[in-house]
Amino acid sequence: NNEWHTQDPAVWQAVQAEASRQANVIELIASENIASQAVRAVQSSVLTNKYAVGYPGARIYPGNEAIDRIDEIARTRAQDLFGAEYANVFPHSGTQANQAVYAAFLQPGDRILAMSEHAGGHFTHGQAHNFSGQLYDAQFYGVDPTTERLDYAQIERQARAWHPRIIIAGASAYSQLIDWERFRAIADEVGAYLMVDMAHIAGLVAGQVLPSPVPVADVVTSTTHKTLRGPRGGMILAKRQYGAQIDQAVFPRSQSGTLEQIVAAKAIAYREAQQPEFRQYAEQVVQNAQLMARILHETPNVRVVTGGTVNHELTLDVRATGLTGAAAADRLYSVGIATNQELLPLETGRTMGGIRLGTPTITSRNFTPAAVSEVATLIGQVLNHPSDLEQLDQIRQAVQRLTAQFPVTR
Ligand code: PLP
Repeated sequence: NNEWHTQDPAVWQAVQAEASRQANVIELIASENIASQAVRAVQSSVLTNKYAVGYPGARIYPGNEAIDRIDEIARTRAQDLFGAEYANVFPHSGTQANQAVYAAFLQPGDRILAMSEHAGGHFTHGQAHNFSGQLYDAQFYGVDPTTERLDYAQIERQARAWHPRIIIAGASAYSQLIDWERFRAIADEVGAYLMVDMAHIAGLVAGQVLPSPVPVADVVTSTTHKTLRGPRGGMILAKRQYGAQIDQAVFPRSQSGTLEQIVAAKAIAYREAQQPEFRQYAEQVVQNAQLMARILHETPNVRVVTGGTVNHELTLDVRATGLTGAAAADRLYSVGIATNQELLPLETGRTMGGIRLGTPTITSRNFTPAAVSEVATLIGQVLNHPSDLEQLDQIRQAVQRLTAQFPVTR
């Protein structure tokens, strides 16, 4: 029933405020998206009432016949969508998927080689402020200082010297192709496992606009809520031979009850991602990001890191405008354009001189190329005239016009 919003107006009003914020903002946070009505609806179903501990056919509590079906549908669809020999769709988040993989493949103290945060890596890949850096011994690879792209010869040298037990490829802010085969060759040479975290690009892999790491890596982790456009959650794909140890690492080693309402939503999202429309969506996400990169490349005082993008996101070096990444993101948000500050590959220390932009959400809102170009132009104007109040006001109005023209209809 829908009575709850009168019974609990405090929460209802906050939810409404968030819905209106989402409607009125041009959302360029690269990790966000708009899940479908079906994906959202099943999350508020009765599935949330059921305790499902364990795997289909081997549960702690009775009454899991329907739940078993949902789990099997979700697992099979994940395998089909990505051509994986094995899938585990239970991890509650990307972080928990990574945690389970480390538990499955590593002992505490084992060595990791992963991408540095400056180059765009994620903090769950061994950073000191995360469990992964506290339990395991991590070293990081960066990018070539000139091209800002991965330097495989350098990674190979590092791997030979460091002897990691696992090499992690995959990023949160890297706009160029990652050569999975090259990583495979390096891992094989030093006798390491190859793990790919495809959280950001999973939807582009599913939509077949980027090469899949699944046939190449030993194990692939992902979130399901970014470009893949499913519910907030995680998953693990792997070679069949690792299935039992990964299952065990998820339950009982790092999780108990499954979020069945989320598993069902993942199943729906996997099916959606198999439709031809999803492929068109994925193509459009990349085209929109490339269009934005082209316009911003021509914008004074703004530099597109690596010179462009092949995926859904791009990072801008904004230092020549005199703004920090945080100030740039603040100014943009003040006119209704949501981005986030980002580390730049060659920066030292923690001050961020970059911002990251992504196109998954505006593409889900069907922004046309003309609208995407206008957004890029508006961004350039804000960054170059951050204190021109009159112009900022005009830009705010343009943002309102665009969000009204391309409403959230999903
Ligand atoms: N891995 C990568 C590459 C990510 O970008 C993220 C999210 O930002 C995660 C893992 C963590 O996902 P979650 O926020 O679901 O824990």
